[in-house]
Amino acid sequence: MADIFQVKVREVILRTYNVKSVRVDFPGVPFKAGQFLQVSLGEDKALKRYLSISNAPTETGYLEFTKRITDSEFSQRLSSLRSGDALSIQYPYGKFTYEDNPAGKIAFLSGGIGITPIRSISRFVTDRALDVDIILIYANRSINDIVFKDDFDAMAKVSSNIRVAHVLCEPAPDFKCAVGRINSTIISNQSPDYAERTFFLCGPPAMVESMKKILREELSVPETQIVTENFQGY
Ligand SMILES: Cc1cc2nc3c(=O)[nH]c(=O)nc-3n(C[C@H](O)[C@H](O)[C@H](O)COP(=O)(O)OP(=O)(O)OC[C@H]3O[C@@H](n4cnc5c(N)ncnc54)[C@H](O)[C@@H]3O)c2cc1C
Repeated sequence: MADIFQVKVREVILRTYNVKSVRVDFPGVPFKAGQFLQVSLGEDKALKRYLSISNAPTETGYLEFTKRITDSEFSQRLSSLRSGDALSIQYPYGKFTYEDNPAGKIAFLSGGIGITPIRSISRFVTDRALDVDIILIYANRSINDIVFKDDFDAMAKVSSNIRVAHVLCEPAPDFKCAVGRINSTIISNQSPDYAERTFFLCGPPAMVESMKKILREELSVPETQIVTENFQGY
């Protein structure tokens, strides 16, 4: 059962030109890496959104959520939050978690803001030094759209268990990446052992659906090895 809490904003962090993280005081109810919450910036339905928790339970003392800032009223209000402001959250929700889907080898497939729960799980696995081999295949339009790049670089530096393969529509000079969109060739090149992996897919529903189709129809990955989180609303 998810509980509701009034919390204070601690910090707002600009992640990219159009993505912001908000950190609020931790209300004390535990969560699993990869779960989500509902943020209410007012009573009206238009001021409520489901957002994944982007920090890990190992990063204690606060909860963080990370939103792509659009023109919506919710986005605009979120974007203007300052430390000390109050808001309401309800959590924990969701089964897009390592605990609910434990595996020795994981492939995360994600695009854009769909990285948020994956950042949480990756951080958790790295901080706990769990024996889990992770490949993240992360698609973005350009290098400027990559969210949590420094974080993933830092994780890959401390743990040989995590590797990141970037896929960009617009490649940047001197930046190692595949070009285009995630497809079966990129998946099998980046993880030749893909048949042994559990795939976690997260992003807008259309992207998740197309990734699932590639895995099932082109790579014969069984349904039991595919875990999904749909960011309804994009
Ligand atoms: C489990 C889950 C986790 C999510 N995690 C994140 C996250 O970490 N970061 C992030 O940026 N976004 C996340 N989203 C998406 C987020 O909830 C918003 O839908 C999205 O950010 C668009 O909201 P907006 O205010 O920017 O745009 P808007 O312009 O308000 O939304 C676009 C359209 O989608 C509709 N809509 C909004 N929310 C929903 C919904 N839940 N279901 C159906 N229609 C909807 C709106 O009414 C509008 O018509 C998540 C969604 C889900 C379900």
